[in-house]
Amino acid sequence: MRMGFMPSGYFGKMLMVDLSKERIDEMEVDDDLYKQYLGGYGLGVRLLLDIIPKGAKPLGADNVLGLLPGLLTGFGAPFSGRFMAVGKSPLTNGWGDSNAGGYFGPEIRKCGYDGLFFKGESKDPVYLAVTSEKPEIFGADRIWGKDCVETEDEMNRIHGKGVRTASVGPAGEKVSLISGIVTDRGRVAARSGLGAVMGSKRLKAVVLKGSKKPTVFSPKDFYDVSKKYNQGFNKPGAVAKGFLGLSSYAAGLIRRLGLPSNADASVVKNAFQIYGTTIGNTLSAEIGDSPVKNWKGVGYRDFPLKKSKRISGQKMLEYVKKPYGCSACPLRCGALMDVPKKGLTGVHRPEYETSASFGTLLLNDDVESLIQLSDICNRSGLDTISAGMTVAFAMECYEKGILDQKEVGFPLEWGNARGIVSLLELMVKREGVGDILADGVKVASTKLGKNSHRYAVHASGQELPMHDSRLWESLAFTYAYDPTPGRHTAASIDFSEMGPIKDYLEGAPFIKGQRDDLCVKAKNQKVVTGIHQAMSSAGLCLFSMNVGRYPMLELVNSCTGWNMTVDELLDTGWRIQALRHMFSVREGINPLEGKIHPRALGKPPLKRGPTAGVTIDLEKMKDAFCQELGYDSKTGLVSEEEAERLGIENILKQMTS
Ligand code: SF4
Repeated sequence: MRMGFMPSGYFGKMLMVDLSKERIDEMEVDDDLYKQYLGGYGLGVRLLLDIIPKGAKPLGADNVLGLLPGLLTGFGAPFSGRFMAVGKSPLTNGWGDSNAGGYFGPEIRKCGYDGLFFKGESKDPVYLAVTSEKPEIFGADRIWGKDCVETEDEMNRIHGKGVRTASVGPAGEKVSLISGIVTDRGRVAARSGLGAVMGSKRLKAVVLKGSKKPTVFSPKDFYDVSKKYNQGFNKPGAVAKGFLGLSSYAAGLIRRLGLPSNADASVVKNAFQIYGTTIGNTLSAEIGDSPVKNWKGVGYRDFPLKKSKRISGQKMLEYVKKPYGCSACPLRCGALMDVPKKGLTGVHRPEYETSASFGTLLLNDDVESLIQLSDICNRSGLDTISAGMTVAFAMECYEKGILDQKEVGFPLEWGNARGIVSLLELMVKREGVGDILADGVKVASTKLGKNSHRYAVHASGQELPMHDSRLWESLAFTYAYDPTPGRHTAASIDFSEMGPIKDYLEGAPFIKGQRDDLCVKAKNQKVVTGIHQAMSSAGLCLFSMNVGRYPMLELVNSCTGWNMTVDELLDTGWRIQALRHMFSVREGINPLEGKIHPRALGKPPLKRGPTAGVTIDLEKMKDAFCQELGYDSKTGLVSEEEAERLGIENILKQMTS
C-alpha cells in the first residue's frame, strides 16, 4: 500500500495464519489489485497464484485456504453479504472456489481484514478467533466431533453471543471431498470440496467479532443509491401470494406451452420473497429443468405432477416459522422451519438445489424427509448437490445389482426416503458403504468398479447441479469447461436469460438476435461471463441478477472513488475468469479439456419429455465460445492479445515460459 494513502472501500490487508508454525501475520495487498480483481474469489485467485506453490497437494500443508468477503461486502449495499472460500480443489485438483451468504462475510470486514488465509496444517484440532485486537489460535478438542450448529452454539457460549462462526462439521473433519464450510447454522460454501481442505488442516472453526469498517469514498452517494434500490422491494401482497400459490398447479400447463423467457422482475421478487428458491420445485420437475433418476428419467413420467406437488414451495410453506435473509438483502429468500415429527426446530428451508437433489432426482416425494436431509447436510457440512447426486449414483448401482441390500444394509430403491436418510447418515460417519460414497461419485465408482463409472454423473470430478443442460444448452459448456466444473452458478447465457439479465448492468453490450444463433449466443456468453465474475467478486448474491437493474457501477465507484466504466468492470470480470483458468492450467488441468457425463449432453437423447431428442454438440459450442472469449482450447489459456488487453500478459508469460 502506498505510504500515507488511506484506501476507501477496503483495508488493504489480509490475515495469514500458518497453522504448522502457529503463527499469525498481517499481509499487505497492493491497491492496484483491488481495482483489477475487486475482492472475493477474484482477489483470492490473484493472490493464491503467488502463494500456493505449483503442484501443492490439495489436502497437504502447501495448499492455502482463503475466506474473503466481496468488495462491497460489509458496507450494507443491497445483496452484498457474500463471502467466498478459495483454494486448490481436492475434487478436481484445479482451482476451487465456493460462495455463501449469511453474516460471516461482513464480519471479516468488521474485524479489519479483506480476507483470511490459512496455510500449513495443525497437529491437533484448532480454531481461530478474531474477537479482539489480537487474533488467536485456540485448541479445538471440545468442539472437534460436534456438528456445525453445536459448534456455533459452543463458540457463542465461549466468545459471547453474536460472534460469527464458520466451521466444518463431521464430514469436513473426516476429509470428505464433497464437504463445505458452514456459517449461520446452514449457509454453506459447499462446492469444490473446500471443507475437506479446512478439515485436512485440522482447522475446525473461524470465529469473528469486530466493529471496524473501512472508509466509504462518497457515503452520501453510496447510501442514497442503496436506499433507492431497496425501495423497489415491497412485501408481496395477498394478490401476489394467491397468484403465485397456483404456480405448481400451472406447472403442467407451462410444460405444454413452454417457459416464458426474461421473467418479469416484480414476479420474480414476489416469488422469491414468499417461496425462496423452492418456487421451482414442482415447475422445474415438469419442464425438464430438474434432472430425474440420476439424469436418465423424465419428470412428468417418472416423477409426475401428483408427486412433485408434494414437494412444492407451497407445501414447504406449511413448515415455515419465519422468514430469513442474509446480511443486507432486500429480497430475503430464506426461511426457518419447524418439523415437529422429525424433532427439527428453526432449521433452514431447503433450497431448490437441495429439494431437487434429494427429491426429484431420487423420485422422493416425502417433503419432511427433504427438510431433514437438508438439515443433516447443514450440520455435517456435506454439499447437498454432491450428496444427493452420490445417493442417486448408489441407487442406480443398487438397481443394476452393483450394490445389494447386504452391502448397503437396507433397501435402496428409487424414492425410498428412509433409505436415503440412512445412507446419508452413513456417508457423514464414513461407515460401511458410506465410506465408499463419502468422497462423491468419481471416487466411489473407482472404489466400486464393475463399470459403475457409467452411473457416476459428474464433470471432471464435481457432481452436476440440478439444472438440466439438455434444457439450457450453454450450461453444458459451463458445466464441462468452467475452472470449477459442474457449477450452475457460473455464467451461462441460456440459463441467465430465464431472468431479466440484459437489464442487470446498464451499458452491458448484449447483442440482439436469434437466441439459438450460435454467434449471438457466443457474444452474449462473453458478456454474461464478465458480469458474473465481477458480480461474484463484488460480493453480490446471484439472485440480484433475477430482479432487474442493479447499480453495481455506482456502488463500486462511490465506495472506492475509482470512476470505473462498464467496459472496465467487464474487463475485470474477464481478467478474473482468465486467472481462474491459469491456476488450473498451472496445476496440470486444462479446464477446456474437461470431461462431462454423456447424459448431460443428451447422449443418448431422451425418448420422451421436454428435452426429448436433444443432443448437444459441445465441441461446436466450445469452438464458438472460445473464439469469442479469446481462449485457446488446446492450452486452456487466454490468447496473448487478450492477456495484453486485460493487462495480465506478464502472468501469462510466467505460465508459458
Ligand atoms: S436472495 Fe436469498 S441467498 Fe441471496 S442474499 Fe438474499 S437471502 Fe441470501
